[in-house]
Amino acid sequence: MQVTFENVKKVFDKNVVLDDISFEIPESELVTILGPSGCGKSTTLMLISGLMFPENGRILFGDKDVTEMDAMERKVGMVFQNYALYPHLSVLENIMFPLKMLKMPKDERVERAMELAKLVKIEGQVNQKPGELSGGQQQRVAIARALAKEPSLLLMDEPLSNLDARLRIEMREEIRRIQEETNVTTVFVTHDQEEALSISDKIMVLDKGYIQQYSSPTDLYNKPENLFVAQFLGTPIINTLTMTEALNLSSLAIDPTILKKAKTVAIRPENIFEVKDESEAFIKGTVRFVEVIGKNVTVHVDTEIGDIVATDLGFIHERGDEIMLGVNEEDLLLFDDQDLTIQRGVSNA
Ligand code: ADP
Ligand code: MG
Repeated sequence: MQVTFENVKKVFDKNVVLDDISFEIPESELVTILGPSGCGKSTTLMLISGLMFPENGRILFGDKDVTEMDAMERKVGMVFQNYALYPHLSVLENIMFPLKMLKMPKDERVERAMELAKLVKIEGQVNQKPGELSGGQQQRVAIARALAKEPSLLLMDEPLSNLDARLRIEMREEIRRIQEETNVTTVFVTHDQEEALSISDKIMVLDKGYIQQYSSPTDLYNKPENLFVAQFLGTPIINTLTMTEALNLSSLAIDPTILKKAKTVAIRPENIFEVKDESEAFIKGTVRFVEVIGKNVTVHVDTEIGDIVATDLGFIHERGDEIMLGVNEEDLLLFDDQDLTIQRGVSNA
């Protein structure tokens, strides 16, 4: 089911959480809402589900205006961070529970629940109680239960936050697989940029009541529309430098009028390389710290305009090494005095 928000506004007391938000979630896609804690992600899900209503604007499912419709009528499936399973019911009974509410005959109910148990790979545990399962397995049950009613949409609010790091990676692959197998339009909420980048068709970045950017994961990473998005995505965090004379960009082919408007420069750590000729360096500095984690070598370089982090220098340096750093013009992000992108990174490759 396609979802459309038209100029939606949500206010708590005097706190404007969503200010005139408009967007579309395409049918059968997995869209992630990403943003820092308190930016309105859960509020957006509640508005989609009908558990909350906006002060202003319209919400549509397909062509149908559902703004005033309650949650029951909207038929969405929800999965939360705490699995919210019924502890005294077996796995199968948990999955069947919504179908019982729909008064589906028992044998049909069992058949459907078993299909779902297979889909989420929990068929071996159907007779166990939730308390006997691991966190990942409990979340599989919660997903199966949410899908039982064949919902118009699947809404997931930070479903992986309670799982340990390894299980989180396993389960995000599983969520993607289940979404692709069922084709159900899914809205996934997280504050974890890596999780968002790994599973989404599209990502909506929310902050300060506004949509900061709504695009594909690769565009979000390579072509951020503003400094907030550039800094929110990527580890280590993108290098952000104030435009000063210390920064030598003369060897780069950048339109001078663009350069004149630029107040801030940002460069991803993986796009920095070492140069041997000073005229090709945008900055020089001294290696302050080298961090080696398996195959990942991160070099912190102390320069006169601050610390610069590089992850792909190739040559292993030592503390105290003098080093000259280069970058290609297509990897340079330039921002104006409003922190909006004036030159985007990677060209339309
Ligand atoms: P997120 O899920 O992105 O962390 P929320 O949508 O839960 O953020 O909350 C967004 C803002 O709205 C926060 O400032 C929060 O305190 C406020 N808020 C959320 N729900 C309520 C509520 N029921 N009453 C008052 N304020 C709320
Ligand atoms: Mg939340």
